[in-house]
Amino acid sequence: MRILETQGLYKTYGKGETQVQALRSTNVAVQKGEFIAIIGPSGSGKSTMLHMLGGLDYPSGGKVLIDGTDLFSLKEKELSIFRRRKIGFVFQAFNLVPVLSVVENIELPLLLDRAVPDRAYIDEIIHALGLSDRKNHLPTQLSGGQQQRVAIGRALASKPAIILADEPTGNLDTQNSKEVLALLHMSVQKYHQTLIVITHNPEIAAHADRVLRIEDGVVTELEAGGGHAE
Ligand code: ADP
Ligand code: ADP
Repeated sequence: MRILETQGLYKTYGKGETQVQALRSTNVAVQKGEFIAIIGPSGSGKSTMLHMLGGLDYPSGGKVLIDGTDLFSLKEKELSIFRRRKIGFVFQAFNLVPVLSVVENIELPLLLDRAVPDRAYIDEIIHALGLSDRKNHLPTQLSGGQQQRVAIGRALASKPAIILADEPTGNLDTQNSKEVLALLHMSVQKYHQTLIVITHNPEIAAHADRVLRIEDGVVTELEAGGGHAE
């Protein structure tokens, strides 16, 4: 089943001499349960694409369809509700709420949606993230790597159909990266989630079902590299 599709999606920033074709007309289709890695040099359009896939930024043209819904035909408020229900975001800037504890930050999207948190699952996430003894700490009392893990927990807590991540292990050491990957892997398997990840980490790309490479705003699909999820 197709969960996400772009149709002639493109993005141009600025005009005249400073115009940048950040993403050129892109048609990709993603099946439910797929794990897609997006790679490419800095400034090639990876974040631009991911932001539009999640409806965080408007395209200059084209469409993003999620479960058949045309994201940019929704009113702003509908779009934000749709995002919260369907998509978990993991970004480099953690966007944690400074006055809320670790567990409160993780549960926040659920509370905003008036949904009942699955306590057992939240505990499982917190345990897997190695944050059991930091549950009631504030973000400022955590290391950068711990804050990143909270952001990942928050993205997973509502069991979203799609997880969009920008360098989810970017600030983590090897051991922490492995643990975060294991958690993501557990989550997508258990809840049949679709995972789209920007990464410079070859180990992540090797585990993906498909690898999309962006260069100068042009998206191409790489041949399967034989990567295999364990
Ligand atoms: P890459 O992910 O290609 O290694 P960078 O690490 O330089 O690139 O930046 C990551 C992404 O974050 C880029 O897409 C950049 O546009 C975006 N970014 C960097 N700084 C800011 C900022 N202050 N506000 C918004 N976006 C930013
Ligand atoms: P990546 O994530 O691969 O590093 P980005 O998607 O952040 O790349 O950026 C793609 C191109 O678009 C870059 O040339 C960048 O400078 C430009 N760009 C990104 N965000 C903006 C913005 N808000 N305004 C103008 N140009 C931008």
